[in-house]
Amino acid sequence: MSGQNAAESCIFCRIIRGEIPSTKVYENEHVLAFLDINPIAPGHTLVIPKAHCETLVDMPEQAGPHVIAALAKIGKAAMEAAEADGFNCLQNNFAAAGQEVFHSHWHIIPRFEGDGLKHWPHKTRIDAESMLRIAESMSAKLG
Ligand code: 5GP
Ligand code: ZN
Repeated sequence: MSGQNAAESCIFCRIIRGEIPSTKVYENEHVLAFLDINPIAPGHTLVIPKAHCETLVDMPEQAGPHVIAALAKIGKAAMEAAEADGFNCLQNNFAAAGQEVFHSHWHIIPRFEGDGLKHWPHKTRIDAESMLRIAESMSAKLG
């Protein structure tokens, strides 16, 4: 779904419009941040561009700097408020990557030394030729 219809029914657009309650922690002209309803850790926050877009791929380029600036500021605030030792910024794109809400968003997750949260495995063995092939294919698409 795209355009006005998508924004009308989108749960995060409804939060932006105040039609659904949320625990807001930060807002400016371009970005809204509120606590995740089902947190992984205290201070787990969602940061969203106010302009409706389903994934990072269709997010308007001009929103990028506003989102990045907000992530740094809110990440620091979440880490300090939760008395955490670090934080992850995670962003899921498309269902295969775990995206459930199709209004592009970033998770800020405060992390604690020894909290036991595991990153996904990154031990896939890929031969040098395949690596080169995928890098060339990406470069060609990127122009
Ligand atoms: P995704 O898997 O799409 O990256 O993450 C969606 C996140 O949105 C989940 O962590 C979920 O808990 C959160 N979420 C879904 N619906 C609501 C809601 O109505 N309010 C808030 N605050 N968070 C929500
Ligand atoms: Zn939306």
